[in-house]
Amino acid sequence: MNPTPVRDIVIVGGGTAGWMTAAAFSKMLTPAYRIRLVESDEIGIIGVGEATIPHIKSFNEALGIDENEFVRATQGSFKLGIEFVNWGAVGDRYIHGFGKIGHELHGIPFHHYWLARRGHRPLPDLGAYSINTAAPLEARFMRARPEMTGSPLADIAYAFHFDASLYARFLRRYAEARGVQRTEGKIVQVQQREGDGHIQAVVLESGERIAGDFFIDCSGTRGVLIEQTLKSGYEDWRHWLPCDRAIAVPCASVEPLIPMTRSTARGAGWQWRIPLQHRIGNGHVFSSEFIGEDEATAVLLANLDGEKLAEPRTIRYMTGRRKQFWNRNCVAVGLASGFLEPLESTSIHLIQTAIARIATFFPHQGFDAADIAEYNAMTQYEYERVRDFIILHYHATEREDTPFWRYTRHMSIPEALQRKIDLYRSNGRIFREGNELFAELSWLQVMQGQRIEPRGHHPFADLYPPEEVDDFLDNVAGVIRKCVAVMPTQAQFIAAECAAARA
Ligand code: FAD
Repeated sequence: MNPTPVRDIVIVGGGTAGWMTAAAFSKMLTPAYRIRLVESDEIGIIGVGEATIPHIKSFNEALGIDENEFVRATQGSFKLGIEFVNWGAVGDRYIHGFGKIGHELHGIPFHHYWLARRGHRPLPDLGAYSINTAAPLEARFMRARPEMTGSPLADIAYAFHFDASLYARFLRRYAEARGVQRTEGKIVQVQQREGDGHIQAVVLESGERIAGDFFIDCSGTRGVLIEQTLKSGYEDWRHWLPCDRAIAVPCASVEPLIPMTRSTARGAGWQWRIPLQHRIGNGHVFSSEFIGEDEATAVLLANLDGEKLAEPRTIRYMTGRRKQFWNRNCVAVGLASGFLEPLESTSIHLIQTAIARIATFFPHQGFDAADIAEYNAMTQYEYERVRDFIILHYHATEREDTPFWRYTRHMSIPEALQRKIDLYRSNGRIFREGNELFAELSWLQVMQGQRIEPRGHHPFADLYPPEEVDDFLDNVAGVIRKCVAVMPTQAQFIAAECAAARA
């Protein structure tokens, strides 16, 4: 006998998480399913979350979204990576680019040859061997030309910056056009079934009752269903990631329009810079243990590239994760499921993977405990691996200039991260573990960019004549330089393909 299918899906929250979920399920499910979304204009959305990683392209593709239309509608821009300033030491800069760095030779990863020859002759930073790190330094961008087989131009990985409010609006139009029913109103009561505590309905201030079989909690840090109702618990990670506040402020655009996010380390945190078509988004992420809010605001305002366009606003958060992401007939997505600071632009990606995982484990009315346990284990693994990557940025530093950096430099770190650092420090080896989000090249760029120096390299890199290896390295850097020279600037590219209406 087939179990009773879920038919009525209720999404609580209309921020990025709520509308991404609504859009995806409106595309995946047939009209036999009813999808309702509740959001409160009075509460509003968090309104930050404007930088992404390349995986979002597959989300757009799955939804059949036209990329130029999407960029236009969200005042969007393109992102080839993140520039980190002052992290390993004050004055340092490196880019964590999304693309390849050189290519393998005789089956050995590129960076081993670079490590092998570095001690013998002057060589540029690793960034000189990647189109993703060389192009943003000249503010250049173009989409890949797959037909140019063998050229770095055939394979350019990129993501987007966009205006968070416009993105939610864009997805809302998409989802409503596919039958999602939106209700505006504040939830004041949540009704649970006697016995097993499953959620039956949410009740709005207006008295309207919205019932469902399956509830997706996208209500932000409040966690109206997952925490306030189901008390799923929260694991606090602030001892590893002590930043707990952000002050955000937009400023006027300045030229050139660089295709990367910039993250500049400050005395007790860091500052983001996200260039969009109509403005630059800025924010200072900091630890309230180490700096006061007034001082943090002053630091931010003193470091804007253009005139400020609104008053700064403070956002408080607690880094960590929900102990149960899926509890009974409710699954949390977005900030309701946990929060990792935006240093590597991972939160929107975690929304995307949660949606894909919910689709994989899509329930019957029975809500099988084994499915839920596996969902929770997979989500926990994903969260912890991203967490470790972010901790790396704070820990791999030679900075001792403020109490904040002394703390993060000397704090104890998760064992899995220590293992990765030790392995790289010995002979430059890096392995992606399981399904973790960040691959070898991401770990490489951050570890090397933040002064973790391997003692050795793969011995096979010494098997070939040094002249051959030097020619190989020089050739790769030369090809990258030539490719970058033929790329348009991002401003030219956007003007030709996807310029938004003036704001
Ligand atoms: P919200 O936007 O807070 O939405 C919650 C929704 O729930 C709202 O619609 C609200 O009205 C509704 N709601 C709440 N309570 C009720 C109620 N009682 N009744 C009815 N409705 C209710 N992520 C990235 O990927 N890249 C970034 O660059 C990035 N930068 C960030 C910077 C900062 C400082 C912070 C804090 C986060 C950042 N994030 C970033 C994370 C990103 O902002 C979020 O993951 C994303 O916006 C999703 O938020 P959300 O939809 O879960 O929550």
